[in-house]
Amino acid sequence: MELKTDIQYLKGVGEKRAQLLRKLGVYTVGDLLHFYPRSYEDWSQIVSIEDARIGEVCCVRAIVDRKPVGARIRQGLTLYKTDVTDGRSIMQITIFNNRFLADKLEAGEEYLFYGRVGGSLWKKEMNTPLAEKAEGGKRIRPIYRQTEGMTSRTIERLEATALDGCVSQCPETLPAWIRDKYCLCAIENSLRDVHFPPDMDYASHARRRLMFEELLTLTLGMRLLRGRNRARTSFRVQTDETARFIEKLPFRLTNAQRRAIEAITADMAQDAPMNRLLQGDVGSGKTVVAAAAVYNAVQSGMQCALMAPTEILAMQHFETMRKFFAPFDLRVALLTGSTRAAEKKKIYACLQAGEIDLLVGTHALLTPDVTFRRLGLVITDEQHRFGVEQRAALGKKGEDPHILVMSATPIPRTLALMIYGDLDVSVLDELPPGRKPVRTYAVTGEKRERALGYVRDHLDRGLQGYIVCPLVEEGETPMAAAEEYAAELRSGAFHDYNVGLLHGRMRPKEKEAVMRAFASGEVRLLVSTTVIEVGVDVPNAVIMVIENAERFGLSQLHQLRGRIGRGRESSTCILISDAQNDEALRRLRIMTQTNDGFRIADEDLRMRGPGDFFGARQHGLPELKIADLVSETQLVHEAGACAEELLRRDPDLSEAVHRPLRAAVETLWGGVGSSGMN
Ligand code: ADP
Ligand code: MG
Repeated sequence: MELKTDIQYLKGVGEKRAQLLRKLGVYTVGDLLHFYPRSYEDWSQIVSIEDARIGEVCCVRAIVDRKPVGARIRQGLTLYKTDVTDGRSIMQITIFNNRFLADKLEAGEEYLFYGRVGGSLWKKEMNTPLAEKAEGGKRIRPIYRQTEGMTSRTIERLEATALDGCVSQCPETLPAWIRDKYCLCAIENSLRDVHFPPDMDYASHARRRLMFEELLTLTLGMRLLRGRNRARTSFRVQTDETARFIEKLPFRLTNAQRRAIEAITADMAQDAPMNRLLQGDVGSGKTVVAAAAVYNAVQSGMQCALMAPTEILAMQHFETMRKFFAPFDLRVALLTGSTRAAEKKKIYACLQAGEIDLLVGTHALLTPDVTFRRLGLVITDEQHRFGVEQRAALGKKGEDPHILVMSATPIPRTLALMIYGDLDVSVLDELPPGRKPVRTYAVTGEKRERALGYVRDHLDRGLQGYIVCPLVEEGETPMAAAEEYAAELRSGAFHDYNVGLLHGRMRPKEKEAVMRAFASGEVRLLVSTTVIEVGVDVPNAVIMVIENAERFGLSQLHQLRGRIGRGRESSTCILISDAQNDEALRRLRIMTQTNDGFRIADEDLRMRGPGDFFGARQHGLPELKIADLVSETQLVHEAGACAEELLRRDPDLSEAVHRPLRAAVETLWGGVGSSGMN
């Protein structure tokens, strides 16, 4: 048996189980070894019935008093009961609907019972515990992610076979100096112990090593992919002119905004190009910070580019920038996929001639025709939506320009560290004054009428609102669904209001018209698919209804909700959902509990994992098997430091001792698109 042997040929697997295992991402025997338990049952700490604490999960050794007898409570529910004793006390065992377990228990035999202790001090009980013959002994049992048709116990047996067969073939990826320095055990031991630890200390040692390896591999890939040569820039800000810009603003900057602008100005005065992440929750006012940077850069003779992920957002940035720069002599242009050919040509020529100071746009900025005369500052908004390569492509249009990335999805700190490594970060941790937190309610579909009535009340008061359309079923087009929904509202409860419609399939000119009408207040209610998600800013819109809220991720819901709560009126967000499953309910509950983008991002990451968090792999992060970026902050730091030292010693990991590690990096990052590793 080899590591790369097809899982189907592992003893005890076969065709059917192989299929189930593939669903879990296990294709080979080697994959199975790296399919780690998600937790453990500790059967090693056996307590007496007397010592078993009510409310806790315990393992008790006891003799079954009599064979459990079943009583049918009602259709489909049978209850079995028996008493067990450890010689000093008696505990009741209750078994719901599990005949298999009830049949297994024989009178007079001794078993280990593992489960949560309930009952009272007078008589403790366990509900449907796990039970094993006592002589099997004390140990820690792994619990695996299961799939229908394959229990954790089955996987446990297969792991044992695979470990016996080929754990010794697993290459040691971590050279001895790293293992010594960070106190990590060898690969073979860690694989044995992660699945079958003699005690919980072994388990945590093993996990620590495997997590470290994974984080190190992730970090190395990131570094190798990104390239770290910090070039010198030919663009330096000569004098700080931001005061002149700030003077003309219609509002006072928050302290956080001031700090960010100062940091950016200082960065751009250096020889090395700026590489800064401007992070701030929705509505924290990132745009004006970017504008200050642009103003300053232009005063020193640079051209600037601002790239946004959607056309609507690009248009809005364009408008905003024009307003900010109206008192000054700054030339701003907009370039998107739908800019007319003649207009495009003119823009290309003006850029080349240095007659445009700021070009705002979408991915259209990346086309080869776009060439600048002296591109000194590149800003990307909502940048996690752009791939690593796209971000780099825009930078290449200048000679090592300053880079500012703005992120509205508050990326958890650990993850930011992981992704950007040496990037500098400014956080806008303060909302502009006068904002009130959005109140959020989760309701079921039955309450839809009332919710819509509530929206109407707001419109009657001269305010505006959003309705985020239900996501479409398969086969339906988003356009049709959104149109139908809007039509219903127009002919129903909102017949006397101007209801606008916005969806992804509309032509950009049409979208622009709708957005303008909404911004000006002419359209009072905007029915939309998720295209409004990013950036759109209409302070008079204070109510939002989100249909099918369960189908959105937490961060996405937070982004959507961020469209309201921008004015002085208090805002309300109503999430409509008929979801039953725990995870969906949990997400909705979190939304009703907090407006804190960081907490939401953390929860999102915890629930979905980093690969998913960034909406699939194109955003540059591979899926992790064991490490948890949220809770393992310390280890993330250690792995980062280790990667740095490693690359200092051996920049392309070509030494023989580092080759297995390099192979691991390539495997982990293999699916992540065209990498610059060669
Ligand atoms: P985001 O960080 O989500 O991109 P924006 O830059 O769109 O936020 O700002 C949100 C709104 O807050 C805009 O209408 C902007 O003009 C306004 N704003 C920004 N900074 C301030 C401030 N210091 N005081 C008052 N309003 C502000
Ligand atoms: Mg924004």
